[in-house]
Amino acid sequence: MTYDIEKIRSNFPILNQEVYNKPLVYLDTAASAQKPIQVLLKQEQLHNEYYGNIHRGAHFMADKATLEYEQVRDQVAAFVNAKSRKEIIFTKGATESINLVASSFSEKFINEGDEIIVSEMEHHSNIVPWQMAAGKRGAKVVKLPFNDLGILEMEKLPGLITSKTKLIAVNHVSNVLGTINPIADIIELAHKNNVAVMVDGAQAAPHISLDMQKLDVDFYAFSGHKLYGPNGVGVLYGREKWLEEMPPYQGGGQMISEVSFDGTTFNELPYKFEAGTPNISNLAAFGAALKFINEIGIENIARHEHELLVYGTSRLKEIDGLKIYGEAPQKSGVLSFNIDGIHFYDLGMMIDKMGIAIRTGHHCADPIMQHFNMQGCARISFGMYNTKEEIDAFMDAFDKVKVMF
Ligand code: PMP
Repeated sequence: MTYDIEKIRSNFPILNQEVYNKPLVYLDTAASAQKPIQVLLKQEQLHNEYYGNIHRGAHFMADKATLEYEQVRDQVAAFVNAKSRKEIIFTKGATESINLVASSFSEKFINEGDEIIVSEMEHHSNIVPWQMAAGKRGAKVVKLPFNDLGILEMEKLPGLITSKTKLIAVNHVSNVLGTINPIADIIELAHKNNVAVMVDGAQAAPHISLDMQKLDVDFYAFSGHKLYGPNGVGVLYGREKWLEEMPPYQGGGQMISEVSFDGTTFNELPYKFEAGTPNISNLAAFGAALKFINEIGIENIARHEHELLVYGTSRLKEIDGLKIYGEAPQKSGVLSFNIDGIHFYDLGMMIDKMGIAIRTGHHCADPIMQHFNMQGCARISFGMYNTKEEIDAFMDAFDKVKVMF
């Protein structure tokens, strides 16, 4: 299939505009992807035509909204090839999905003196919840390091797993280094040692075709807004056997079976973990995003982004004094870098004035910054709609701004 980039871009009205009187070049999809018109229209349609609170079965509109909400669950289950729709929990994002596991799993399965292995290349959202859980349970967080190429030191993992290890937390793709981690190997080793694995898939789900059954993973988290859908919605895939045993994360409406002042019984999966009114319209629109992605094909998107990564890497290397962080052979469309003598923050601000949106800072991954002994870095990241011309536009803009440093 030919990758019809013009057609794809035509679905993203936001990309077709000028900022500071310059054509917008959006190179920050790893932070949040732009939304195709199908997603925006679905949000609007639900609000205009059939908005009602779901699962309350009160009237036509509530029923229609409920049906749509539950259809999206089926869509997500198919998207990740889950064994059962009961394993798909809707949350408000990857962060909440990880917090849910950290809280509920640790309450049931982590005890004083136990250990949780967390990779050094995690986003804060896959570190802090484990530190908090470990603090509450009297457990310890153990670091799985990465090397200077941005590759996990897998040879150290067997030595870190002890009889006290209960869980390994690792991302599928690093939001800074772009590294695609060998999660299948990690899961296999973990399971041989009766250890569960929490994979943060926030940066992988938009680029890698997922198969929960084949991966045999215990928990997998991702966010709607990185998958060309709305913010405020996310997914936790959890293996049914764990979810059945874990206590609810939050109490409230919908997560119960029966409530009395003598006690409460909880709803079946997945509702046990979905307390309160969810983000109804955004969830429906997330379904539209998944449909849109499926129509293009995640493999086609990945191939396109890989071409951009290869081209972008070689173009960036033309810049004197530029260092790229993350040189793993298996890498997703993320390029983090610093340039000698130019503060990443100044670069981001000046490039922005040329119409080019990139990311600068610590990228919510302080331990990666500490590893490379830096305060932060600049990051370019690609989505399905980016082009080589946009990379050239970045390079041209850089040529113009560099004289100012
Ligand atoms: N993990 C990774 C690797 C991420 O890149 C992000 C978002 N930057 C998150 C987790 C958190 O996602 P969210 O803010 O959507 O919950």
